[in-house]
Amino acid sequence: MNRSITRRQWFRRAAGAAAGVAVAPQVLTARPVGTRRSPPVDGLIRLSSNENPYGPSPKARAAMQAAFDEAWRYPYAGAVEDFVALIAEREGVTPEHVIVGGGSSEILHATGMAYGLHGGELLAANPTYEGMPRYAGKVGAYTHRVSLTDDLVHDLAAMDRRITPAVKLVFVCNPNNPTGTVVDPETHRDFISSVSRRAVVFVDEAYIELTDDPAAHTMVDLVRHDYNVIVSRTLSKIHGMAGARVGYALARPDIAERVRTFGMAGSNVMGLRGAIASLQDAEFQAFSRQKMAEGRQLIYRLCDEMGYRYAASQTNFVFFQTGKPIDVFQRGMQDQGILVGRPFPPYLDWARVSIGTEQDMQAFATALPKVMAV
Ligand code: PLP
Repeated sequence: MNRSITRRQWFRRAAGAAAGVAVAPQVLTARPVGTRRSPPVDGLIRLSSNENPYGPSPKARAAMQAAFDEAWRYPYAGAVEDFVALIAEREGVTPEHVIVGGGSSEILHATGMAYGLHGGELLAANPTYEGMPRYAGKVGAYTHRVSLTDDLVHDLAAMDRRITPAVKLVFVCNPNNPTGTVVDPETHRDFISSVSRRAVVFVDEAYIELTDDPAAHTMVDLVRHDYNVIVSRTLSKIHGMAGARVGYALARPDIAERVRTFGMAGSNVMGLRGAIASLQDAEFQAFSRQKMAEGRQLIYRLCDEMGYRYAASQTNFVFFQTGKPIDVFQRGMQDQGILVGRPFPPYLDWARVSIGTEQDMQAFATALPKVMAV
């Protein structure tokens, strides 16, 4: 039996065999565990997608429920306007600088399309968040890859050297997914100042609120100063609203307009009303930050005890080296009822584990030695 099938698939297959039913080939095709494409697996602890299981905040839930009465209306005039006004005020930009998306994924895709079409090339670290490079690849864009440093941080100097005239977009995920690491803010600023004369720099700040000093790490001040830079954020991480699909980005109005052209679905009234409430709920954000920090400490402690190397994370996940092939580790963890992150080549004996609830993390702490003992 292929061990990476889910329990549900196994039962379906066993039931089909027992009944003498021919099982369609696609049912027999096991999907990799922990990828976005894997089917929802009930009853398993999800430490695989960097979600925040404490969300949405009580205030966001109340706002989303109250928004039912508004759900018959399109979001454009109303929820979007209010959301954009709030973001513009918080970030010190005009509404024209704000791009709204159905999650930041939509903005990553739209930007990849805007700059990757017609022979535009991209430059990104490896490994990094694949949302944009993968999507741009589908429209024929080539992405140059630059390895991380030995500390698993973006190698900005090497990235600077790799830019060619064909590179239209440089992607920097900070903090980086899957490593959780951040680049030094001053080096990052210098990099953007230099590179943005040759290409647009997209800074993915999905986890910025979980860093030790978000104000120092964000590059939004460069947007205010008219650089060729796009900064994206999401409600999916610290705000615990991944299912509500709200993301936004900040860019000079001409760049923002170009990206908007390629948007597809946009966000929705309930998500946006929840987002407006959550962004103003400092208490919940502090709570999330605290819980994620505790989760990181627990994983660090386990790694220290078991002698595993790990990257210093400023996010809601930790990337560490078990020394076991990641597909074997994933299967072992799934047998213990826990989903962990997908393989991130070339780090194929490293695992990315998202921070869950306290209870989830206790289950992880119990499962880890068992899985590693096999
Ligand atoms: N950017 C990074 C770095 C991520 O890790 C993720 C999701 O895991 C996203 C963007 C996409 O998030 P969303 O589309 O939910 O905003």
